[in-house]
Amino acid sequence: MALLIFICLVVLFFVALINDMLESRKKWVKAVPYSKLVNATLQYTNNILFENKISHFPKVHILYKTHPRFKGYYRNSEIYIYTKSNESIEDIVLTILHELKHYIDHMKDPQYFEKFNKNYDFSSFSHFLSYTCSPLEISANEFAYKHQDLCLKFLAKKGVIKKV
Ligand SMILES: [Zn+2]
Repeated sequence: MALLIFICLVVLFFVALINDMLESRKKWVKAVPYSKLVNATLQYTNNILFENKISHFPKVHILYKTHPRFKGYYRNSEIYIYTKSNESIEDIVLTILHELKHYIDHMKDPQYFEKFNKNYDFSSFSHFLSYTCSPLEISANEFAYKHQDLCLKFLAKKGVIKKV
């Protein structure tokens, strides 16, 4: 009897393992247009903005093309997202969250933000490097990676994205 239970448990363990493996091979796809995906991602950040005493969402421009260098960028309180420069749903969510952190930092402390956010000349590698290593970039990346999974789960729950 004990052996039978043991065998059952082993079988269950492998079924769960195979299920997990199949699940991880699936990928996220969007079930709505980009505009709704962007809006739902902003909705995810609603409480974060509230905690930071920011009462407005930033305006987000969706550009249905590639950008030679960026997946998106932040300028003058507005976010620009290049859909074709983002390879996956994970990618585009990460980009929106990254740019949204720039918006938060800008709104919270415009002087600090502008001090670091000079006009960089991206044709120069040293400028590019100093930009990538700037405190604003590091904090935007940290924020985006911290919230990416939770945001994906939020979007899935809302039916904005699904796994296929
Ligand atoms: Zn950035």
